[in-house]
Amino acid sequence: MSDQQAQGKGSNQGYTTDQGATFDALVVGAGFAGLYMLHRLRAMGMRVRVYEAGDNVGGTWYWNRYPGARCDAESLAYSYSFSPELEQEWQWSERYASQPEILRYVEHVADRFDLRRDIRFERRVNHAHYDSQNQRWNLSTEQGDTATAPICIMATGCLSVPQLPDIDGLDDFQGARYQASHWPHEGVDFSGLRVGVIGTGSSAIQAIPEIAKQAAQLTVLQRTPNFSVPAQNGPLDPEFAQAFKANYRDHRRYHQRGLSSGFGDLEVVPRERAPMAESALPLSKQEIAEICDTYWNTGGARFMGAIADAFINEEANAKVAAYVHDKIHSIVQDGQTAAALCPTDHPIGTKRICVDTNYYATYNRDNVRLVNLRQTPIEQITATGVQTSQEHIELDALVLATGFDAMTGALLRMDIQGVDGVRLADQWQAGPVSYLGLMVSGFPNLFTVTGPGSPSVLSNMMVSIEQHVDFICDCLEHMRDGQKTTVEPAAAAQAQWVEHVNEVANATLFPKGGSWYLGANVEGKPQVFMPYAAGVGVYREVCEDVVADDYRGFQFG
Ligand code: NAP
Repeated sequence: MSDQQAQGKGSNQGYTTDQGATFDALVVGAGFAGLYMLHRLRAMGMRVRVYEAGDNVGGTWYWNRYPGARCDAESLAYSYSFSPELEQEWQWSERYASQPEILRYVEHVADRFDLRRDIRFERRVNHAHYDSQNQRWNLSTEQGDTATAPICIMATGCLSVPQLPDIDGLDDFQGARYQASHWPHEGVDFSGLRVGVIGTGSSAIQAIPEIAKQAAQLTVLQRTPNFSVPAQNGPLDPEFAQAFKANYRDHRRYHQRGLSSGFGDLEVVPRERAPMAESALPLSKQEIAEICDTYWNTGGARFMGAIADAFINEEANAKVAAYVHDKIHSIVQDGQTAAALCPTDHPIGTKRICVDTNYYATYNRDNVRLVNLRQTPIEQITATGVQTSQEHIELDALVLATGFDAMTGALLRMDIQGVDGVRLADQWQAGPVSYLGLMVSGFPNLFTVTGPGSPSVLSNMMVSIEQHVDFICDCLEHMRDGQKTTVEPAAAAQAQWVEHVNEVANATLFPKGGSWYLGANVEGKPQVFMPYAAGVGVYREVCEDVVADDYRGFQFG
């Protein structure tokens, strides 16, 4: 462990702020995307500066430290594939890695590839302006750094701007208030406390069972229930891991192309033993249950892959949803609580399916109570608790797990200006537009890793991050070889891509989800389905085809 890690810090010690420093490329963010970007650019001989708001590497895994935080993609698939040595030497302990283990992995990667020296921590980029005359991006940070480079890469993550609820009196609460996405590094001991949790998305669904184990009383304040399937997490069998690693290249190829999500979590149940149906329509309830049971019992988000038309046909979707409703009723003893936990307002899967450990069973504990805010809404938060239309709930601690301004939030929080001072915020006023989710017309040499318009949040992020970073590096090499200095998408290619992304989404049930995929959780945000829903395999083929066709749709200058 390095000194910096021992202090829980990145490696800013001894560095002053950058003042007009010049680089070959600037990268914003030191999560999985920013780190791999830095590694690749450095290997190309570039001088790179990375700015990171946190005081250490890790991005989402640095910030989201709430109890129970765990990845919903399996650890052997949710890891870098770029280094076979790294793949072989890192030992995952569980099927789904916990946040602390993933953070240790990211820190190991930063040290192993000596990445920290090019990263400045606790630096939040607030401006990124393109200087057309000099063909450079000028960045500044809230902490006073200024730097310039011809290339700028936004590796700012898809879920990195927390969304706090707009509830009267939120700041009046005198007890301890916590935010799932900004959890204290030292952890929280809820023993003996009356705790309230607002939110029942993926974060809360992971945190609730853990908080319930400690708290004297836990009140879950639920506005909308979400579908959740069991992770069936457990220790990773070393023999299984070793055998898996012996074929890592094949598995990686399969993750990248074989499945639409890139999750590839078919490892635990061999593919030939995983039943699938093309359609739920001709199947009886019993037949649906037989198929879904296999997925429920083996665990994970691949549950949604059991029946092929569940994402495109409402009747088929309803049959799968009914299976989960039955499961909830079979687990949760109190009928009224079970009914309140059954989502009925959106097709299953159109909001990101949650993956949990003992979530529904937690409601059978004596110290856990569900308050259905649809029936008794929150009127205000008071100094001592939460006032609903029916009662005052006394609380010692309040946990907010209320989500994120997803996909566009981190980009639009910065003042990004392209050619002629055109603001990205203005270009995206009616929703994000991009070519391939990688670049925006009018913003030369500005790349967005897993930006809106790419599979990103619908996929295993590691697969999508590596693909984008590799694409960007290949593109920069292409420019170097051709002595080109700028690249940006043609407006027509961008418009076509945006139309295609919408067409693909509209052929699915996704737009009916009212989810953060659409921006529906942020008041006033334009509702546009942001990720590309055709899958990582199709998307990769599109990108390869674009490259093979001399970077069709991109203009080089
Ligand atoms: P989320 O899914 O957006 O859930 C936010 C929750 O807060 C919803 O239940 C929402 O209810 C509720 N909420 C918001 N404002 C409220 C208000 N004013 N009053 C009452 N309730 C309110 O956010 P999240 O749980 O942080 O998850 C976001 C995404 O992060 C996930 O979908 C997933 O992609 C990712 N994530 C992944 C993992 C993992 O890998 N295992 C873990 C955590 C998160 P409404 O629906 O009624 O608005």
